[in-house]
Amino acid sequence: MSRVYNFSAGPAALPEDVLKQAQEELLDWHGSGMSVMEMSHRGKEYMSIAAEAESGLRELMAIPDNYRVLFLQGGASSQFAMVPLNLLKGKSGADYINTGSWSKKAIAEAKRYCDVNIAGANPEGQFTVPAEADLNLNADAAYVHYTPNETIQGIEFPYVPDTGDVPLVADFSSTILSRPVDVSKYGIIYAGAQKNIGPAGLTVVIVREDLIGDAADGTPTMFNYATHSGADSMYNTPPTYGWYLAGLVFKWLKNNGGLDVMAAVNERKAEALYAAIDGSDFYNNPVDPACRSWMNVPFTLADSELDAAFLSEASEAGLKTLKGHRSVGGMRASIYNAMPEAGVQALIEFMADFEKRHG
Ligand SMILES: *Cc1c(COP(=O)(O)O)cnc(C)c1O
Repeated sequence: MSRVYNFSAGPAALPEDVLKQAQEELLDWHGSGMSVMEMSHRGKEYMSIAAEAESGLRELMAIPDNYRVLFLQGGASSQFAMVPLNLLKGKSGADYINTGSWSKKAIAEAKRYCDVNIAGANPEGQFTVPAEADLNLNADAAYVHYTPNETIQGIEFPYVPDTGDVPLVADFSSTILSRPVDVSKYGIIYAGAQKNIGPAGLTVVIVREDLIGDAADGTPTMFNYATHSGADSMYNTPPTYGWYLAGLVFKWLKNNGGLDVMAAVNERKAEALYAAIDGSDFYNNPVDPACRSWMNVPFTLADSELDAAFLSEASEAGLKTLKGHRSVGGMRASIYNAMPEAGVQALIEFMADFEKRHG
């Protein structure tokens, strides 16, 4: 068996140590004689797995006690609706910052429930984020929503918007756990698991307690944070296996030194790759250097006729899933926590070699 370097944006590579542990425990978890997949979510074994995963995440992110951690289904995309349904609390509007594809989807969904004020946006076609001083925040907004890392465009906020008393809501799907964050600055942090937490099918929502319990009339039971908060995310059958695997990832992160160490590694990986791109006329990254993502690195070849050759030769070299998103074109290397530095180095060497042969 040989494992490749998988640069997929999501579902994405998982730490090999985690997969091996899951393999060891697959048929018989800790002497239970069962797979985690086969356990009742209400049994004592699974309850311990669930609780340990939550405490692992709380410790890693230093989540304050007045926040609930929910382990849900429906993806980050369901949060696009759950956020307005739960947070409007009788107000008519919310602020949204529009920086790319995922912001746009969140905005389109929110418009079904409220007036959306676009508090800031990057000019069409520009790969940057609005300066904090240029944000047009409405003091009466129910909340402010933004996307700290745009997975498709590879744009990342270099600052956390200061929204005063208005709750800040962030779609952290592709950047959660990449570095420490000050959770207390946020009302809600949510993330689909399949980028930097675990397998697809699990959605993690970190929500401040005072924002729970005032959902709009008609909110479906399953879309009400109070439902899940009141039942420790076990109102219905949770995504048990994904929750377990997430717990293994949290343990792996802790054993590797936690989020400070991950941040240093991630910054090194990203800097090395951007330096390789910037140091060549053959490759290009369109993003404002102040807003370049540590997690998703899109790049184009000067001659797009070579795209197919690049992808097929990379694939032969064990560097997989580098094709860029259809809306951006070119390539995209997603280098989440589970991508080792050696994988990024292998990509950089391949790129230099490809340029030598085709440049
Ligand atoms: C992948 C992604 C989503 C969509 O997540 P689903 O879990 O598929 O709904 C939303 N926002 C961002 C920033 C993403 O990267």
